[in-house]
Amino acid sequence: MIYNKQAYELGSKRSAIRELFEYGKQRATIVGAENVYDFSLGNPTVPAPDCVDETIRRLTEELDCIKLHGYTSAQGDAETRAAIADFLNKTHGTHFEANDFYITMGAAASLSIAFHALTTSQEDEFIAIAPYFPEYKVFVEAAGASLKVVPADTENFQIDFDALEEMVNANTKGIIINSPNNPSGAVYSRETIEKLAELLYKKEVEYEHPIFIIADEPYREIVYDGVEVPFVTKYYANTLVCYSYSKSLSLPGERIGYILVPQEAYESRALYAAVAGAGRSLGYVCAPSMMQKVITLCQGETGDIELYKKNRDLLYDGLTKIGYKCFKPQGAFYMFVKALEEDTNAFCERAKAEDLLIVSGEGFGCPGFVRISYCVDEDMIKRSFGAFEKLYKSYQ
Ligand code: PLP
Repeated sequence: MIYNKQAYELGSKRSAIRELFEYGKQRATIVGAENVYDFSLGNPTVPAPDCVDETIRRLTEELDCIKLHGYTSAQGDAETRAAIADFLNKTHGTHFEANDFYITMGAAASLSIAFHALTTSQEDEFIAIAPYFPEYKVFVEAAGASLKVVPADTENFQIDFDALEEMVNANTKGIIINSPNNPSGAVYSRETIEKLAELLYKKEVEYEHPIFIIADEPYREIVYDGVEVPFVTKYYANTLVCYSYSKSLSLPGERIGYILVPQEAYESRALYAAVAGAGRSLGYVCAPSMMQKVITLCQGETGDIELYKKNRDLLYDGLTKIGYKCFKPQGAFYMFVKALEEDTNAFCERAKAEDLLIVSGEGFGCPGFVRISYCVDEDMIKRSFGAFEKLYKSYQ
């Protein structure tokens, strides 16, 4: 093979989720779109808040071409970074500064940069907590490190600390956490974050080097019933926050987010330089200029989260009434549901035969469960219950 083997392999097969989504589009041409219940993707359906469109309109009227569409600083506009720092400081009582932020093209870029910035040897390991976002493995391996996975706590979807403690070793560079979680919908409690911090402080002393938390937070604002999402840097100094506006502002196609390097982190300014350098070497510089201006002016805004809550309640009530065992999501827009047979992939195939497109937990490191994305049209959820009931009955 003349081409990069790893790149070729990644590029020549789609993810299981994308595969299912493409199948759904094709199936819709045969049975009609209204008869396919596609719960595969996490594409926000709630419109962006008005602030986004209004700001874009105003910017296009008021700014000249260079100001609107020109290159920004590689790490992002100082004004944008200052606006993010101000907002977080007001919200969380923190003391961040503009220079603690590196603006990126969404969480995928933030994570890739973080893993590149932290990896110093091919022995390095990052630990994810199942269920986890499958792309972590791709990003970590591209940085030259390897990914280990702590099995899921399938009762509460918090962290199995005994398993985590056993997995941390001298090669551990970081622990990746994602709360609110895709795919479980769980939010890590304050107790969980405190316990994690306590364990990692202990391990840092034992192994005499920093161990980072990489907090992947694209769903931070999407929570229900007033649940608290602890701000991780307040509990643990060696934290890199990887944030994205893809979900909170419903802008996944616009590619905008950031990495926060708090000043309390180990050799923080050197770490920031490594983040900027990783961004440079990966080509993640000058995030989209217009979107930087949009987020500057839309700090604190979100799409209407009540609409996701409505879908969550509708789906949870409907499925539990049929007899499914579901983990009630506290945040994000996914529901994790117990499969009705041992072989999770076989269960998903049987669901597919009813035109229910749901994603196996296998790919998230959590067999036995399936992910149902409820960032979908409310009517589709209502229409799908007949098919869910038929599927359930086929197992009785
Ligand atoms: N991390 C998690 C847990 C996600 O669910 C996603 C997207 O769905 C991402 C990261 C990537 O987000 P972005 O669109 O900002 O790159």
